[in-house]
Amino acid sequence: MPRNLFESSHPLVRHKLTILRDKDTKPKKFRELIREISILLAYEATRDLMLESASVESPMGPASGALLREKIGLVPVLRAGLGMVEGVWEMMPGSEVWHIGLFRDERTLKPVQYYNKLPVAPTVQVCIVLDPMLATGGSAAATVDILKEWGAERIKFMGIIAAPEGIKTLHDSHPDVDIHIGVVDEKLNDIGYIVPGLGDAGDRQFGTG
Ligand code: URA
Repeated sequence: MPRNLFESSHPLVRHKLTILRDKDTKPKKFRELIREISILLAYEATRDLMLESASVESPMGPASGALLREKIGLVPVLRAGLGMVEGVWEMMPGSEVWHIGLFRDERTLKPVQYYNKLPVAPTVQVCIVLDPMLATGGSAAATVDILKEWGAERIKFMGIIAAPEGIKTLHDSHPDVDIHIGVVDEKLNDIGYIVPGLGDAGDRQFGTG
């Protein structure tokens, strides 16, 4: 496994993941868990963000501190990545959110772009791609391609469950991208679903299964 793959071993993540996988977990609870796990993973994924010194007046007098220096872009891959935005955005309310729409051609399993409203010039220094399932890795790699072409300086990927195949594809195409994952599962099945996984993350969030 690549050195810049970070798999969470946090007990809260493992606990919440177990309930997330349960086929009887309903969409409302499922969305709540996606939001909470995303916050926990963001805590780890943002560990190396740059700071600048800042001072404020506390009621007791001057205090020196630090504030985030870089502008962050959250890039949810539609539609399953949407559920990951809210929690992470709450932690970094100054972030911009840029949506990328990719669907997976069920025949070729290749990503097809259908939505991208990125402005001409990059407006953020760090992009965090949000997609709960790193399955074949095709969509993740294509999203990073788009962001690099846009001019993003630093890109991280954050997902909830990954297959080894997806990690390999993303890392082989973009070895500079840190991969933050809740858990690495066993494998992909022959129609590109992660096993044991949790089924279709979009359907389970939006009740469309
Ligand atoms: N997308 C999903 O939602 N689930 C998988 O298992 C693979 C891709």
